[in-house]
Amino acid sequence: MVKKILVVGAGIGGQSVAIGLKKAGFEIDVVEIHKEFNVYGVGIIQQANALRALDAIGVADEVMRRGSPYGKVKLCLPHGNSPFGVQIGEAGTPPIGRFPSHNGISRRILHDVLFEEAQKVGLKYRMGVTVESIDNQPDAAKVTFTDGTSATYDVVIAADGVNSKVRKLIFGEFKSTYVGLSVWRYAFKRPASLDTGYIFFNKKHKLGVIPMTAELCYIFLNSAEGDNPIIPEDQLVEKLKSYMSAYPIPLVQELIPQVTDPTLVNYRTLETLQMPAPWYKNRVVVLGDAAHTTIPQLGSGAALAIEDAVVLIEELQKEGSVEEVFERYMTRRYNRCKMVVDVSETLGAWELLEYNDQPLPEGANMGMLMGKTGMALTQEI
Ligand SMILES: Cc1cc2nc3c(=O)[nH]c(=O)nc-3n(C[C@H](O)[C@H](O)[C@H](O)COP(=O)(O)OP(=O)(O)OC[C@H]3O[C@@H](n4cnc5c(N)ncnc54)[C@H](O)[C@@H]3O)c2cc1C
Repeated sequence: MVKKILVVGAGIGGQSVAIGLKKAGFEIDVVEIHKEFNVYGVGIIQQANALRALDAIGVADEVMRRGSPYGKVKLCLPHGNSPFGVQIGEAGTPPIGRFPSHNGISRRILHDVLFEEAQKVGLKYRMGVTVESIDNQPDAAKVTFTDGTSATYDVVIAADGVNSKVRKLIFGEFKSTYVGLSVWRYAFKRPASLDTGYIFFNKKHKLGVIPMTAELCYIFLNSAEGDNPIIPEDQLVEKLKSYMSAYPIPLVQELIPQVTDPTLVNYRTLETLQMPAPWYKNRVVVLGDAAHTTIPQLGSGAALAIEDAVVLIEELQKEGSVEEVFERYMTRRYNRCKMVVDVSETLGAWELLEYNDQPLPEGANMGMLMGKTGMALTQEI
């Protein structure tokens, strides 16, 4: 019988699974490699299925109260007389029950909501500690930690992100792939006119403006930076401003002067990784980005991590051996996660073709593919 569980990594997936398992009565240890949390202040999009999963661990109402619920994202071309350009479509998961199509929220606030819930249920995180080694046997996993301590667990959950150390220790090396795209993000005072999320398309990049709270919003801008995507910090502000200036609509133009601080420009390359089945071995199981890292074209990576958590919590409370539990968990998750990673890669590949002035494959329709996938994500997990 499973009683004692180690969660490695206190990100969105790790905190979600730890909270739910603690509520279900398991004995939980959490280790987080960073000594202190330093979650950046740009936003994250939670679609209706993410909210449904957050509800299962008891925090959906709080994230909506402290975030900014909104409807479908409007897809627009950045020209014409309207502050928002010309609408050509809309995208996103349709509402599910009482959960709206989207909730925009600061990553820091989402982290705080999860952390506060973790404290409430009595979880204690060991900060600045990770696993050194795992003796992973069929009946138990003996873990040695970097602070010299060791303990034996019935189950170890690897929620330690794209470069998972646990995955490497147990399953060997899997490398993420750079898809040729980068993303720029920056937080702003929210313009009074911003009524929902917007994505604007031009030939060289795309720009999203997303509400985060009543007072704040953020932008993301996807660009193709080629084979050498490293950009020195002293060029970040000017480059982002010059990209934004290619959107001659009032909504974007009024944000440009607010881009002033290079340390607040969150710039990163986009990477993808799918761990092949099985996602488990003996007593160790993988969850969230450690199992499936998606580029954010569907804004769904964290949603998948939270859904993974909900399904694993459910399965650990059902009958069966640990192997059966892990197999049911993976079976319920595999195709859905693969769909999101695959579709996101396709959308990214089409973006890259456009930004490099190359023709799209016949029938390629971003709005339609996003809509179809958003609809599929409303299905029960
Ligand atoms: C640019 C961008 C935009 C995105 N936008 C969205 C969005 O709008 N909506 C959405 O749903 N998703 C989005 N995502 C995806 C989302 O951020 C991830 O899918 C999500 O953070 C994954 O959560 P996780 O807990 O699995 O991993 P992580 O968030 O990576 O958390 C892993 C945790 O483990 C810790 N850790 C790492 N190594 C160790 C170790 N060896 N020992 C102990 N702890 C360790 C880390 O410090 C971290 O706290 C976006 C991703 C990117 C890159």
